Amino acid sequence: ALPNKPAGELKIVREPEVEKRDVDVLIIGGGMAACGTAFEIKKWADDDTKILLVDKAALERSGAVAQGLSAINTYIGENKPEDYVRMVRNDLMGIVREDLIFDLGRHVDDSVHLFEEWGLPIWKKTDDGKNMDGKKGQKMGTLKEGATPVRTGKWQIMINGESYKRIVAEAGKKALGDENILERVFIVEILNDKDDPKRAAGAVGFSVRENKVYIINAKVIMVACGGAVNIYQPRSVAEGKGRAWYPVWNAGSTYTMALRAGAELSMMENRFTPARFKDGYGPVGAWFLLFKAKVVNGLGEFYAGNEETKKELEKYAPYGTAAVTPTCLRNHLMMKEYKEGRGPIIMETTKALAALGETMDKKELKHLESEAWEDFLDMSVGQAGLWCATNTEPEKKDSEIMPTEPYLLGSHSGCCGIWCSGPEEDWVPDSYKWGYNRMTTCRGLFTAGDGVGCSGHKFSSGSHAEGRIIAKSMLQYLKAEGDKVTGFAETDQELVDMVYYPVYNYLDNCEYTTATDVNPKYCKPAGMAMRLMKMTNEYGAGTGSMYMTNGKSLEVLMDLFEMFREDLEKIAAGDLHELLRAWEIIHRLYTVQAHTRHIQFREESRFPGFYYRGDFMGQNDEEWFCFVNSSYDKKTNEWTLKKEPYHKIISD
Ligand code: FAD
Repeated sequence: ALPNKPAGELKIVREPEVEKRDVDVLIIGGGMAACGTAFEIKKWADDDTKILLVDKAALERSGAVAQGLSAINTYIGENKPEDYVRMVRNDLMGIVREDLIFDLGRHVDDSVHLFEEWGLPIWKKTDDGKNMDGKKGQKMGTLKEGATPVRTGKWQIMINGESYKRIVAEAGKKALGDENILERVFIVEILNDKDDPKRAAGAVGFSVRENKVYIINAKVIMVACGGAVNIYQPRSVAEGKGRAWYPVWNAGSTYTMALRAGAELSMMENRFTPARFKDGYGPVGAWFLLFKAKVVNGLGEFYAGNEETKKELEKYAPYGTAAVTPTCLRNHLMMKEYKEGRGPIIMETTKALAALGETMDKKELKHLESEAWEDFLDMSVGQAGLWCATNTEPEKKDSEIMPTEPYLLGSHSGCCGIWCSGPEEDWVPDSYKWGYNRMTTCRGLFTAGDGVGCSGHKFSSGSHAEGRIIAKSMLQYLKAEGDKVTGFAETDQELVDMVYYPVYNYLDNCEYTTATDVNPKYCKPAGMAMRLMKMTNEYGAGTGSMYMTNGKSLEVLMDLFEMFREDLEKIAAGDLHELLRAWEIIHRLYTVQAHTRHIQFREESRFPGFYYRGDFMGQNDEEWFCFVNSSYDKKTNEWTLKKEPYHKIISD
């Protein structure tokens, strides 16, 4: 074994086995959206339609829901889809695709009803309205039958969701059949049609468990590999670096692969820097919404309620003055406290639980405290560990909260992603429609969940529902245009060379030095990861500059990116794990480059609290009330950015 390598690790080889697949439908990703597609598609496909799903991990615990969740954040129920659009629009500072959001809103509940049917425990209100988990005196029945869920907010419902992903994956797996699923295969690139470079025709990837490259011909493709994390220096340091709010395995593959296949991205300037419990990144939703906890600044002031805050929010009207303050502006208020010397920000868990104790008996309060722990144990175990390690009993000791490093995603409270065709309805403006629902501008390439741009707040349920929506539109495309796909031009060897080049770099040069990680002929993924995160943190509005950047910093960053891209030709992988890491870094580079190029192009600060352009502070509706779209030509390494008009569909 090489130094620092566990004995028995599979030795990397220069000539991996090649496995070829020829399918009609290829689903890339195995998260909520992909599981939705997997479940739905068999119902509508002809019996002889060949479908393949490929996930870089194991479906049962992959993606953002891997650890489980304690709430489903989008359940329309007694509300109207139009109001859902209004909520999302306000939270995302006005510029969203209302057609996509409305379409999601009218379908999402059906997925939640399915989850319940498959065994996901959903909290219901009891007759006396007290026992939140519904153990006593519960109204019988399911949500579909009209039982009332326990809501933590207008759109969220509580669940016992530690096994949420397993339940959803099981349904997807059963529908598709194990033989049509490849797990632990990382897809590297989507391949274009040899006769039509604007059409998708296949994909290539590699096994992270065997020396094997997969070359897949497909007529229609869905890419749903989630969002991107570790594109910015995380607040955690050293050994804790693997800890982040966003799941560390989603590396921007969705955006990079779509971009390189010729699809336009949209609103990539948008990001999400959630305010979470400091260091453990634990969720705050239940604390705010269910336990009614308040946050105060370092002076103990409830800053969100004071006059100065009101004035600050008025600057961002109509969003800042709406009944619910947008997520980015809530962060902005926090940043203001830090910058003006009134940090840290504290969540008063003690007062919240004490207040609840006034209306509850001891037993009920104990039960509630255990729910507070379960909220972490369901979805963010590390936070529970941190509370234990720091002797934090929430009824006795308050906790600090803090905005995290930036993440890119399109299904949570962010809206970056791919520019997609809208539903085929008369009320959808022509510039939003060029084909099948949720098809990207690369023909035959579809997306859902974090992949769809300009339509945030879908969350787990909405991503699943969107996956189901596109199952049907992919089959429509297959029927109408499947025959137009003629295959890709690359030979098997060219594709193997492309995927395994980091392995060649390693094998060609590893004996040049005695320590394999230090070598003048190549760079290792770990070092490249640190280099990327350092440059984005310093110049691209990371936590290092309190999310501030400007034109000059972005110019510097673009130069650094270009050098980084050249150096990536020298990245080396000494084993399959490093090959995975190498490809993750490559995917991260294009994704974060798209993000910062959009920030560079949009000369205003549309999302204060998420990021600031120091040279263009504030909103500039006159010039920038529009989408920003980007595309990339992989042959020439050229980026193109443009404005795309916004259309209002739902009235205020
Ligand atoms: P994911 O579910 O993340 O799936 C991505 C998939 O792509 C994974 O299977 C991954 O293995 C695979 N993949 C990635 N790269 C590749 C590649 N190159 N090749 C092959 N496969 C690849 N929603 C709620 O409703 N309630 C909540 O309380 C809630 N809390 C959340 C907390 C956190 C920390 C996060 C991150 C999200 C939360 N969400 C919540 C949102 C919800 O998890 C997401 O909206 C949803 O998972 C998005 O679905 P997706 O399919 O787009 O991505």
